[in-house]
Amino acid sequence: MADRGYIGEQHPQLSALDRCTRCGLCEQACPTYRLEHYEPDSPRGRIFLMKEVAEGRAAVDANLAEHLYRCLGCRACETACPSSVPFGELLEDGRYQVELHGELDPKRWGWRTFRHLAFETVLPSRTLFTIAMLPAQIVQQLPPLRALRFLFPRRSLLRKALSMIPPASTAGGAVKAGTVIEAEGTRRARVGLFTGCVMDALFAGVHAATARVLARNGCDVVVPSGQWCCGALNVHAGERRHATEMARVNLAAFADPTLDAIVVNSAGCGAMLKGYASLLDGDAQAQRFAERVKDASEFLFELGLRQGLGPVYERATYQDACHLAHGQGIRQAPRALLVQIPGLKFVELPNADRCCGAAGVYNLTQPDRSAAILEEKVRDIEATGAQSVVTTNPGCAMQLQAGLAERRLQTRVCHLIEMLDRSYRSGP
Ligand code: SF4
Ligand code: SF4
Repeated sequence: MADRGYIGEQHPQLSALDRCTRCGLCEQACPTYRLEHYEPDSPRGRIFLMKEVAEGRAAVDANLAEHLYRCLGCRACETACPSSVPFGELLEDGRYQVELHGELDPKRWGWRTFRHLAFETVLPSRTLFTIAMLPAQIVQQLPPLRALRFLFPRRSLLRKALSMIPPASTAGGAVKAGTVIEAEGTRRARVGLFTGCVMDALFAGVHAATARVLARNGCDVVVPSGQWCCGALNVHAGERRHATEMARVNLAAFADPTLDAIVVNSAGCGAMLKGYASLLDGDAQAQRFAERVKDASEFLFELGLRQGLGPVYERATYQDACHLAHGQGIRQAPRALLVQIPGLKFVELPNADRCCGAAGVYNLTQPDRSAAILEEKVRDIEATGAQSVVTTNPGCAMQLQAGLAERRLQTRVCHLIEMLDRSYRSGP
């Protein structure tokens, strides 16, 4: 069976696949099914394909690869499913089997080369990653360079990439690895701040804002040195060897037993960190680590915000990051925090928990599908009349920003924590 790539051979998933009753209740929640109404690009269709392989009726082939990689991994189907089918895990395992055993169709060579460079070469190396981020950081510091995007065709990757680079934070600041930001007033908790890779390189201002808001709320904020990428992008691309190594690095970096929580401000990273026990096959240290991981909104909501929020006179809406709403089941906490900001007019976004089409590198690997999904999202945002759209994940922030810029809308994208920080800074 091994040479046929038998899904379930190493990570038996047959019982999880069997949970699907084929009721179809997930179909309308699925962005790729809603686009083309094509059964193999629905959750039920993908489960069927994986089950065929698991039961030995089909090989791991290019057809399976195509439909698994057309999936956004948004996990909206998990939320909709009455049978608790763990689609995210099944997808990751399916892609892992595709990369491990699947036949290498010539159409997949480009992806394999990109996958090797991005996830097996650059991301595991701090040096190469730092070099790779330099052009984006230069554009971030020199905003006029952004206009270069108009030199490239509308749907080109370079134009999209330039549109996605987030502006430097107006509040400024950054957190330094190996430092502790001390709590203001009476100490209520001691937390570790997860800084990751892309967030650290392009969203340093969000980390600084997170540390300020946590300190303002009575937390000592420890920024452990040695921490690195959570491994989510690798796992989503069916890559486990380097993801596992990166997970071990983070377990060691956050081994301090005095930390009450490990706070993360990126929804995708948070979902991955909470899943370390599964990645590391039930490892006890990973289990203890995962139990302490909290999304920043989840942590602050449970802790309760201190007084001192100042007014932000703005109309704002909120886009649920898939890995927060569907991956971690956190929907109310971000909204409950936002509505505490004096002066802020919060308006619900229609279909707020529908994917924006970013989905890791999906916007690069499936540009047309991603663009179609984004267009719908941007129309929904425009309809709210919001001046700001708030979210909690770097990929969503960059995708929304590119979509809004392409439509020449003035709506700003900001992180939930930046909005809270802005409010505290305008307070007494
Ligand atoms: S993860 Fe998202 S895109 Fe993939 S099958 Fe589920 S709902 Fe559809
Ligand atoms: S809702 Fe769940 S059980 Fe029903 S078809 Fe979708 S995955 Fe299967």
